[in-house]
Amino acid sequence: MNKITVLILSIFILFSCKNSDLLISLENGLVIENARIISPENQTLSSASYIVIDGDDIVFIGIYKPNLKGTFKTVDAKGKYIIPGLIDSHVHVTVTDALSDKEELENPEIVKSFRNQLPKSYLYFGYTTLIDLGAANPDRLVDFQKMEIRPELYYAGGGAVIGNGYGLSNWKDEVPNFVYQENEAYPFPDNYVKENHTPQAVAKRIAESGAIVLKTYYEPGFDPTQPRFPTPSQTLMSNLKREAHKNNLVLAVHGNSLEAHRFLAEAEVDVVAHGLWNWGSHRLDSTMVLPKEIKDVLDAEIKGKVGYMPTLQVINGLRELTDSNYLNDSELEHVLPNELITYYKANTNIMYANVFGNAPKNSIATNFNRISEQGKLSMKYMHDNGGKLLFGTDTPSSPTYGNPPGYNGYLEMLEMESAGIPLNKILAMATIENAKAFKLENLYGTVEQGKKANLLILNKNPFQDITAYNDISQVIVHGNLINRSAFSAKAMEE
Ligand SMILES: [Zn+2]
Repeated sequence: MNKITVLILSIFILFSCKNSDLLISLENGLVIENARIISPENQTLSSASYIVIDGDDIVFIGIYKPNLKGTFKTVDAKGKYIIPGLIDSHVHVTVTDALSDKEELENPEIVKSFRNQLPKSYLYFGYTTLIDLGAANPDRLVDFQKMEIRPELYYAGGGAVIGNGYGLSNWKDEVPNFVYQENEAYPFPDNYVKENHTPQAVAKRIAESGAIVLKTYYEPGFDPTQPRFPTPSQTLMSNLKREAHKNNLVLAVHGNSLEAHRFLAEAEVDVVAHGLWNWGSHRLDSTMVLPKEIKDVLDAEIKGKVGYMPTLQVINGLRELTDSNYLNDSELEHVLPNELITYYKANTNIMYANVFGNAPKNSIATNFNRISEQGKLSMKYMHDNGGKLLFGTDTPSSPTYGNPPGYNGYLEMLEMESAGIPLNKILAMATIENAKAFKLENLYGTVEQGKKANLLILNKNPFQDITAYNDISQVIVHGNLINRSAFSAKAMEE
């Protein structure tokens, strides 16, 4: 056949083969009619179409209804908006919980109901994919995966903690994947085999555990009056990056200070897991100007295409410890069991003292407001200058009530919007940008044939109104269509 014949033939096929000629057999199907799809990748809203799901796969999208046979349910999405399920790429669901270790031992019933509610709380706010960026606890991972309805959970598999550094402040900690940094002043402990703690060995083990991320830390410490924690050298970081990539792992690194971001920009790591809110010796003043030294580091991250998670809620969540009224927010009743809210209310002063000692509340609030503004300004600069922003909340950053599961993501979005990030960008960050950064774009991040059936049916258009994320009609997770209200902690109690 010559080229012309092929062209005529393909035009003929294109016009003759309407979807109504297509026959799809479904085993466990779900058909969404009148689906107006919002696509985060090209920022468009489609006219009404049909989405056909079988099992947990999207098998068809088109403007004509195909012929369907087999078993399926139908849902009419007229007047509603379909978006991909949201991805929070920085959570802790297997180690850090709602309470400190000691409090958990004392309150086993509260812990049980919290853990039971946890996956539902994420789904209540539309998070169908989570990435646990801590040193994941294998038993808790198994428990979470056993839940029938849950978000998809990916993890960082044990983390790669620098020996004697942040996260492994003494050798008694049971973190198997620590990396030994040569030439440090402290001795390598006798009870470990040195060869098992090289970047090569650790990256290989993390990959074999099923993790998708190698998480490590650049944290000299939070208290300047204390001696510094050891931090990785550039050589060690570049070895970790090489070994992570060899094992198809994404290198994500904790860091939130000017010093850490400068180091991580130079190392061109894949992802920095926090925003740059700790400006070192700089203080944001009423001029609201970003200091040149901060700009230079952010520019280096933009140039190096380093993924940047603003994690604004880390600071805001700590600040909430100064506000006793916070626990009266009625949204909390959807994501936390009632007995946990009651426990928090009875212990606000103890929780505050555990974090801030006897520092006066008003000075902590003022300070954290400033640090929060610093984080927002850094994020806005990244956005305005083509930085690679990713959506991650660090929920919870500490075992307090300041970062409630699911709701914390919504609060993060509200903060982003108030800082001037456009709505289409917020959706892209929490879907396709996260999917790409963590190599999950074949599965999630857009509403497309061939991807997983994790979708949200919203009552409002999220390109017009940020509160659309708190106005979810139904959640489709692993192909199951579930009314949002079923995920509320209140539903459990009724
Ligand atoms: Zn974290």
